[in-house]
Amino acid sequence: MMDFDFAILGSGFASSLCAAILAKNGRSVVMIERGKHPRFSIGESTTPAADFLLHHLAVKYGLSELIPLTRYGSWTNQYPDIRCGCKRGFSYVWHGDGSQYVATADHKNELMVTANASQEVADTQWYRPDVDSFFLQVAKSYGVNVIEEAVVEGIDTNEHGHHRIAYSFQGYRQSICSPFVIDGSGPNSLLMQKYGGDDLTDQLLTNTSAIYGHFVGGQVTENWLKKRNAAICDFPYPFDQAAVHHLFHDGWLWQIGFDGGLTSLGFVTKTTSQREDHKAADSSRFFETNSPEFAFKEWESRLNSYPVLRSMYGDCLCTNFPGRLFQVSRIQRLREKAAGENWASLSFTVGFIDPLHSTGIAHTLSTVERICDVVLSPDIENLKTDLQAYSSQVVCEFLHIDKIIATCYECLHDFDLFSAATMIYFAAAIALERHRGLNMETGFLLARDERFCRIVDQVNRKAKTLTEGNSSIEEHKTGTLIAEIQSCLQPYNDVGLFSPAIRNMILHTTAAK
Ligand SMILES: Cc1cc2nc3c(=O)[nH]c(=O)nc-3n(C[C@H](O)[C@H](O)[C@H](O)COP(=O)(O)OP(=O)(O)OC[C@H]3O[C@@H](n4cnc5c(N)ncnc54)[C@H](O)[C@@H]3O)c2cc1C
Repeated sequence: MMDFDFAILGSGFASSLCAAILAKNGRSVVMIERGKHPRFSIGESTTPAADFLLHHLAVKYGLSELIPLTRYGSWTNQYPDIRCGCKRGFSYVWHGDGSQYVATADHKNELMVTANASQEVADTQWYRPDVDSFFLQVAKSYGVNVIEEAVVEGIDTNEHGHHRIAYSFQGYRQSICSPFVIDGSGPNSLLMQKYGGDDLTDQLLTNTSAIYGHFVGGQVTENWLKKRNAAICDFPYPFDQAAVHHLFHDGWLWQIGFDGGLTSLGFVTKTTSQREDHKAADSSRFFETNSPEFAFKEWESRLNSYPVLRSMYGDCLCTNFPGRLFQVSRIQRLREKAAGENWASLSFTVGFIDPLHSTGIAHTLSTVERICDVVLSPDIENLKTDLQAYSSQVVCEFLHIDKIIATCYECLHDFDLFSAATMIYFAAAIALERHRGLNMETGFLLARDERFCRIVDQVNRKAKTLTEGNSSIEEHKTGTLIAEIQSCLQPYNDVGLFSPAIRNMILHTTAAK
């Protein structure tokens, strides 16, 4: 049996980054991966906070080969073979019940929030098969041992209190030993089932399902707007160079474009089904539920429900790789613990809230940094306390993100209200980005800023009251809530998020890169 200082489960970009950092610091590391790269993975749209965090980690740990990935310009210049897309910001178009889009000069039904000043310094859409393969190569280059196509079958403890991880590889049962495990294996983690405490999913307010895949073509929204006489001359960037959101009363569709005409499309739908329903339907409720054939039928049926989307995306063909669509019944999940005495889990293994607002990659990178700081600290005495603090912080952050996102879903019935609710996220993101993602004192997205958390609570409660059992929502109540959000956010808003003069075209929200 082989012994390593660290065993890391999974080899997504986050596991590989952790592994590279630890190996660079002289630790022996093994990574165990169920699949084989390049493999499909979702979670593609970055934010300035994600870029700042990656840049910071690359500088702090001397991983200079990662720095070009933090800007679209340097990425495409230095790594033209790692596919990506240019992301200048967040674009929204409002369809209501599917037929309510109307072009107006004041952009009543569009919202654009610019994140970067130019294409050169723009954020990126990560084509994960290429990106994750690259991170894996980086980890290997620092001496990380990688075992691919190995299925973890059991984790127990040996006589020294070290983890013994049993896995099957090419039909043989093998095992490795390590005093510390970092879990980046995502949903359905064996380690989390054993040590992660209670499943807190039922406490989450956001409740959505998703169906998604990669398509040829599909970066079509600006043209569609043009044909409907939208005033595109004051768009701060090309509408499709963004995480494009097509919003409906009951959900939204994402359009994320990669260079070369490849597009990620995904429907996210509000659901009311509870956990037990999902359990009954499929025990692996968090991932790729249902067969590819079922997912394809579902996709077709969603396009049929929204003729406007059928007209835009009906001709797009599913790409040969991975050659299928994916469906998740309820996306949300959360475990009670993110770490214990001799283990720690990365963000996406502890939980996930929603693709809305693209919080996943930045949060994941923030957990990579925190775990590496703790386990590399010479202050061994505090290891247990630091891991406990990490665990409770990460769980609190998920509950905070959940409230911000659930509020946006509560407000989907009215675009002005949704836009106002969305500004709660942007105010928090701006604060995080201003500190280049480094000021964790206020927590991820201000999760530890008490005043901000009170605003999040208050708006969430009011948004719920507005919609609860109410088929006709009074306009004046919506207006009052919008005014209240605007007023609460004033201390956090120095970029004119609500300025009527900018008519939903927000020019530049983040610190210069
Ligand atoms: C529908 C959806 C949309 C999203 N959109 C966005 C977005 O736009 N922007 C954003 O920032 N985030 C988004 N996210 C979140 C994003 O996907 C995650 O933050 C990110 O993928 C985390 O990466 P990771 O490397 O931690 O894990 P993953 O990429 O999930 O990697 C986990 C690895 O573990 C391996 N594995 C699994 N089980 C085992 C096992 N038993 N043994 C060994 N290996 C195993 C898997 O094969 C995989 O390679 C989205 C998530 C979902 C579900």
